[in-house]
Amino acid sequence: MNEWREAGTARMLDDIRAGMRATRRSVGKSQLDDRVMAAIAAVPRDEFVPEYLRDTAFADGPLPIGHGQTISQPYIVALMTDLIEPRPDHRVLEIGTGSGYQTAVLARLCATVYSVESVPALSETAAERLQRLGYTNTVLHCGNGYLGWPEHAPYDGVIVTAAAPRVPQALIDQLKPGGRMAIPVGAPFEAQSLRLIEKGLKGETVSRDVLAVAFVPLVDSGPDVTSPGTSPDPSR
Ligand code: SAH
Repeated sequence: MNEWREAGTARMLDDIRAGMRATRRSVGKSQLDDRVMAAIAAVPRDEFVPEYLRDTAFADGPLPIGHGQTISQPYIVALMTDLIEPRPDHRVLEIGTGSGYQTAVLARLCATVYSVESVPALSETAAERLQRLGYTNTVLHCGNGYLGWPEHAPYDGVIVTAAAPRVPQALIDQLKPGGRMAIPVGAPFEAQSLRLIEKGLKGETVSRDVLAVAFVPLVDSGPDVTSPGTSPDPSR
């Protein structure tokens, strides 16, 4: 790693630690798992932001990535990653690939990351970027995240990086018993809440609102024509 990136990453990790201390009451703990911090430290965030924003790549805030979308704030990426308690044998689903940054962080902690993005150009750029950076355990798909990605379900964990007015049932269905989902819930530009949903071994769910957040909206683009089995059945 070059010195500039190393210094930027160190500052970013300090900001994440400070963010955790500041929100410890709401979140319920003041430190993130060491493995999560190590994963954040190992992903070069500057590679995931547009060229003209490289100088601010390590600031603890969201940044535009084109198409009206943003790469999430590092503290939020770290917190959401920690909330699903990723393990090396886990297969996780991300909704909202965006830049691929959250995908890369998860890829360092899990066996396989499946990530769905609705904007084709973002999905393509993220796929190229992840390949160039050597991530071989990420699988990207362009489609409507409201539907999840049933082909690879069930998942040990789900992270949704855009806010939905309510938790999509498909995502709950695709979560393994014992699995965890982190999802911002709330209407665009209104109060949103980062919700942690735990699925019990009998399929029952328990939810907890962890933190007030502001995410771009999860846009419902309708049936997922690029996925087999989801197009309308002409025989009905
Ligand atoms: N995880 C991303 C954050 C991207 S912002 C990162 O680390 O960069 C949220 C992303 O969700 C945007 O790229 C947006 O295009 C995408 N999105 C919005 N609605 C969606 C939907 N219904 N299905 C899949 N992706 C969606």
